[in-house]
Amino acid sequence: MSPSRITHYINGALWSGDSNRHGDVYNPATGEVRARVDFANSAVVDEAVSSAKKAATEWRNTSLAKRTQILFAFREIVNARKEELAKAITLEHGKVLSDALGEVTRGLEVVEFACGIPHLLKGGFSEGVSTGIDVYSIRQPLGVDAIISPFNFPAMVPMWFFPIAIATGNTVVLKPSEKDPTPALLIASYWKEAGLPDGVFNVVQGDKVAVDRILEHPDISSVSFVGSTPIAKYIYENGTKAGKRIQALGGAKNHMLVLPDADLDLAADAAVNAGFGSAGERCMAISALVAVEPIGDELVKKIADRMSKLRTGDGSAGADMGPLVTSIHRDKVASYVDAGEREGATLVVDGRNPKIEGAASGFWLGPTLFDHVRSDMTIYTDEIFGPVLSVIRVKSYEEGLNLINSHRYGNGTAIFTNDGGAARRFQNEVTVGMIGINVPIPVPTAYYSFGGWKSSLFGDTHAHGTEGIHFFTRGKVVTSRWLDPSHGGINLGFPQNR
Ligand code: NAD
Repeated sequence: MSPSRITHYINGALWSGDSNRHGDVYNPATGEVRARVDFANSAVVDEAVSSAKKAATEWRNTSLAKRTQILFAFREIVNARKEELAKAITLEHGKVLSDALGEVTRGLEVVEFACGIPHLLKGGFSEGVSTGIDVYSIRQPLGVDAIISPFNFPAMVPMWFFPIAIATGNTVVLKPSEKDPTPALLIASYWKEAGLPDGVFNVVQGDKVAVDRILEHPDISSVSFVGSTPIAKYIYENGTKAGKRIQALGGAKNHMLVLPDADLDLAADAAVNAGFGSAGERCMAISALVAVEPIGDELVKKIADRMSKLRTGDGSAGADMGPLVTSIHRDKVASYVDAGEREGATLVVDGRNPKIEGAASGFWLGPTLFDHVRSDMTIYTDEIFGPVLSVIRVKSYEEGLNLINSHRYGNGTAIFTNDGGAARRFQNEVTVGMIGINVPIPVPTAYYSFGGWKSSLFGDTHAHGTEGIHFFTRGKVVTSRWLDPSHGGINLGFPQNR
């Protein structure tokens, strides 16, 4: 049986053209090619942008009341179909079903936030700033916004952006990862059902060719990108050069600092959950655990004990941890395990050749734990993006803090301690964008903003929350005077408030 076809969604319908470039979409739990996805060329991107541009004028003039009704309807539809969406995520990404459901739920929080758009878009008004003159501010949509998303959150990451872009009156072209393209199409069908006019939400499938056309397209006003750091930098540099507004979120190496007074059982649970959830393919995964001595031995033992109970297998069949997304990525992560051994770290739990609950041909790698990792080792310097946790032992809080602040990434970090003063000092001193205090994956709730520092984000704006509203709108200030019989006549001096 030939694999099914996955294509673009433009102007309210699946694309019906012929594509001369395609990619294979795998089920990572079996290793089988489950579908072929069309790769857009420049003409397809242009078609999607033109559909979004045509829809933009009517959509920006649609009342806040009507936009909100559609957003509420969309929220209800996604909520009712979240199992369907989660299954599609598990099938192409590999993460376990409960994790996929969690991703959809966190994405829904942004939709719920965007449902409050009438309040969020309220401007300021000052009556009588000068005699007979009022001033007020409004925020208006940018036009057509592109979203380019990574494989690891095929629903949630696009949902960080498009609910707010659409709520604020923009139209959208989404380019999802070519590795798991189906969730974006399900989302498009939910929008249609919710009553969103055709052309407001479009999906182009593809690779660098589509991305490069997005970056240069004169009718695209902004790009919201999430992915690896080299590509995030590329998007930022080329997008800004083309005059676009850019938010480009990159890679991560998230540290968890455990002080000697911490509850070590809580810390061990957190390290395992945050290190191996989604097989470590999360931008907020903990990949470096910094243990302040003398707790190293005890903590490593507690983590290793918990890891021995984790079941690796098919994410749709009740395993704790699923496969990696592709065989290439699995091999790359496994090569880091080889490198860690070569570089002299202590391999406490080896995930190569794991015992699997599922098809042998899946893209498997079991949870892996290294101890006595040094800061010059590649398993520490690089983002591995797999189920590999490194323990670095330090003598003091200061040494741990210095290690974290010296790393080039600054996405998320966590401190585990029972000392409120130490936690407060850490939140103040650490150069990272999102901080957890006894919370291992501190993904901010939708009404705050998500984003890292340093090489984890290029641009000035973080995703969603009030920063998201600002990103997708432009401010305008109006100074108005309605004619009154006592106007002041000719005056060529600079206007002053009187
Ligand atoms: P990736 O950078 O390979 O791909 C991201 C997007 O860019 C995809 O849509 C892809 O098609 C496109 N792309 C890939 N190569 C390109 C190129 N050469 N030119 C133009 N476009 C290109 O990332 P990924 O492997 O899909 O996702 C994993 C990465 O994303 C990790 O580094 C992870 O940390 C990061 N991530 C970061 C966050 C965050 O919030 N900071 C969230 C999720 C994932």
